[in-house]
Amino acid sequence: MYVGGNHATRSFTNCLGSINMVAWAEHYKNANWPMVIYLGYCHALAFLSLFYFSTAKWQTLVFTLVISQFSGLGITGGVHRLWAHKSYKAHGIVRFFLMLCNAMANQGTIYHWSRDHRVHHKFSETDADPHNAMRGMFFAHMGWLLVKKDAKVIEAGRKINCDDLLEDWVVVLQKKLNPWGNLFMSFMFPMLVSTYFWQEHWAHGILIAGFFRYVFILHCTWLVNSAAHFYGQTPYDPKINPTENAIVAFFAMGEGWHNWHHVFPYDYAASEFGVASQYNPTKLFIDGCAKLGLVTDRKRALNAWEAKKAKMPNAPVSELKAKSA
Ligand SMILES: [Zn+2]
Ligand SMILES: [Zn+2]
Repeated sequence: MYVGGNHATRSFTNCLGSINMVAWAEHYKNANWPMVIYLGYCHALAFLSLFYFSTAKWQTLVFTLVISQFSGLGITGGVHRLWAHKSYKAHGIVRFFLMLCNAMANQGTIYHWSRDHRVHHKFSETDADPHNAMRGMFFAHMGWLLVKKDAKVIEAGRKINCDDLLEDWVVVLQKKLNPWGNLFMSFMFPMLVSTYFWQEHWAHGILIAGFFRYVFILHCTWLVNSAAHFYGQTPYDPKINPTENAIVAFFAMGEGWHNWHHVFPYDYAASEFGVASQYNPTKLFIDGCAKLGLVTDRKRALNAWEAKKAKMPNAPVSELKAKSA
C-alpha cells in the first residue's frame, strides 16, 4: 500500500498548545458553562459506572457492546456519510434506523452536526473550522465544545447551505423532538431495555449502557477530529494535516482514513481500499444495505484519485484499483 507523502506528526509543542496557560485563561473567559457542566456530569457518571461493571448482568454488558456499535454507526454511516456528505442514498427504513442510532449517540441533531461538519470541511484548520486543529489537540478533541464558538464559525455556519437536510422527514422529525428524543434514546432506552428484558437494576442500565457507552462513543468520535488531524500519513495530499490513522479507524468504525476523506469527502467508503485491507465496518453496513436494495448511488473516488495521482510527483505505482472493493 502506498503510504508516501511522508508527512510526519505535527510538532509535539503544537499538540500541547492546549496547556499554554494564556490559552487556558482565554478558554476560561469564553467557557460555554452549560456544556462544561453537562459534559462534566456525564464524565463523572461514566467514571462512576466503572464500579458497577463487576455486579452487572452479562446481558447488560453484551447489550452495551451492541448498542455502542449502533450508536457509532448513527454517527459514521448516518449523520457523517449519509447526511453531511450525501455520499449515498438510503431508503426511508434505513434512514429512520440510522436516525434512531444517531439519537442514541446523542451528539446534537443531524441538522446541526451536519452543518458544523460541512463547515469543518470547507474551512478546515482555519478560524472558521468549529474544531480547528491549529488550536491544539485538546481543542480539536473536545475543547471546542467547552468554549463559545468563534464568530467566524458562527458566520460560516449561517452561510453554509443545509436546506437539503430539511427536505428529509427523518431529519426534521429528530430536530422537532430535540433534545428529548435524543436524551430518551441515549439514557432511558438502554435502562428500560435492560430492566424490562433481563431484570437488571436500573442503576446498572443507565450507568453502563447509558452514560459509560455514551461517553466512550463521544471520545471515539472526537478522535477523528483530534488524533486523525495530528498523527499518521498523508499519501493523498501531503499539503494538508488530516491523516490516515488505523487506530482511529478502529475506534471510529472506519473513519480514521482521514487524509483520503478530506481529499474525497463524497466517497461513501471514506477510504481508498476495501474492508479486507482497511478496517471499515461502516462501509460493510452500507454495502450490506445496498445488497438488500435499501441503499443506492454509492459514490466512489477511485477514478478521481487515479487522475490526481497521474499529476502528482513521485506518484505510486497503480496497484490500487485491483485491491479496492
Ligand atoms: Zn477532519
Ligand atoms: Zn467528513
